[in-house]
Amino acid sequence: MASRGVLAPILYLVALAVGSVSIAEVCWMSVTSYRSAYALDRLFEAGPALANRVIVVVLDGLRVDRAVGLRAMGALSEQGVSGTMRVTLPSLSNPARAAIVTGAWPEVSGVTNNSDFASPPIQSLFSLAREQGMEISVYGSGFWRRAFRDHIGDSSASSPSGKASSYETADLIAWQADTCAEATALVRNSSAKLQIVGLLAADEAGHVYGGDSDGYREVTAAVDNCLGRLVGAAGEDATIVAVSDHGHIDRWGKGGHGGEEPEVINAPFAMAGPGVRRSEPIKARIVDIAPTVSILLGLPIPANSQGSPLWDALDVPAEHGSALRNLERVQREALGNHLPNREVALAAQREQRLPLAIASCAWFLWLAVVSLSRSRPLASIAIAAMVFVAAYYALFFLLQLGYSMSSMVRQEYIYFFLGRLVAVAAMAFGAAAYCLRRLVGPGNGPVIRLSTLVTSVFAILVTVTYYIHGLRMVDWMIEIVPGFKAYLHLLSILGVVLATIAAVAANSFVGRNEARAS
Ligand SMILES: [Zn+2]
Repeated sequence: MASRGVLAPILYLVALAVGSVSIAEVCWMSVTSYRSAYALDRLFEAGPALANRVIVVVLDGLRVDRAVGLRAMGALSEQGVSGTMRVTLPSLSNPARAAIVTGAWPEVSGVTNNSDFASPPIQSLFSLAREQGMEISVYGSGFWRRAFRDHIGDSSASSPSGKASSYETADLIAWQADTCAEATALVRNSSAKLQIVGLLAADEAGHVYGGDSDGYREVTAAVDNCLGRLVGAAGEDATIVAVSDHGHIDRWGKGGHGGEEPEVINAPFAMAGPGVRRSEPIKARIVDIAPTVSILLGLPIPANSQGSPLWDALDVPAEHGSALRNLERVQREALGNHLPNREVALAAQREQRLPLAIASCAWFLWLAVVSLSRSRPLASIAIAAMVFVAAYYALFFLLQLGYSMSSMVRQEYIYFFLGRLVAVAAMAFGAAAYCLRRLVGPGNGPVIRLSTLVTSVFAILVTVTYYIHGLRMVDWMIEIVPGFKAYLHLLSILGVVLATIAAVAANSFVGRNEARAS
């Protein structure tokens, strides 16, 4: 067993694995360390208020199909308007919450994920209300205070005082009832003209039980019940905007969000009260909430708002119609002049990636062809490669992985998810290497050629995504769906290389024992 011929290719494969993991890390870091450079620092004019008081109720993780038939959502829809909103990508709560109060998509707000972000350096409904001396009140996720401390001030924000004692449906509902009592008291006793109330229980149930489950159904009904109580506590002079921040998938009895599945990327909303007229269901975007609330409260439209006031749903007195629409026109025009052209910028980035993409593709294609051409008989490596593909996808499915951020279940589970992925690639390669050994007999050469072929194919797939979409977040949001898939391919390379080293070590061990025995 010549270890001389093995060392160089093993070193190459290790370097490839280290490089792949490093690239994956750099790509994810480019999202979490992203800071928006798009602040437009200009205070726009405001119109007359259409409403006296606006309460935005954020129903965390309520799915569109679950909102159908809910009593309080139905009542709002009956008196005003309802519909669906396209949420942010990634479809995570914090990027969506930031969008609700700034009107800006993640690349402009800078809130690109749930864990690492800076305070959005842009205007929000909070900062604009405070500038006008308007009282605000925020209840719900700690995100609001963390991201908008300077806009909100310490005293106006609070979070639920208790936590759910477990994820059992009954405990989630009990927790929901406690937080509802706090929120309702706050709404009843507050004189704030702008109030945000976040109800978090539906999202927890969605994660634990899945978006199609009975547990989710029960908890969402309790959340809707709370929405009804909030509407009652608010009284008739309040305008209610109820909106979800994302939906939930349902896979193997678990939920999750972050990806682009239709049940995740669309969220229900309903609004009613002074300033809102009865209208047909509408399709909107989550960035439309901030400018709509601005028009309702007579606040300037947030300078970085990329949304539009929901004019079809607003009850605008005829004498103010053109003046109010002009507010939007002026803001959108100024923002349009301020923001660079996304398509042009992305096309330029793609062009810059071309030389490296061609070089990378050529290198890995050459390696793949060499691995194939040196394999005797050729069919053996082809069969082993097919075994790898079959085992990889079978295990990928069995271990409940998926090519969407939603399949992580929660962002905090990312390392558990990635650990399983590396194990899948390693086990699949182990199966393929075993099959190869049965076909051509023992030896490290065939295993290394198979490993080079498989890792090269993964690398080519990553290179194609690199060229088309880019892997790092540079100035603009990366394409989450192909980006996440490329991320998984990069980590699969690690799994294959680990299994290769194990196979070579086992081969050498068995070879030495056989030599000793003869
Ligand atoms: Zn969630």
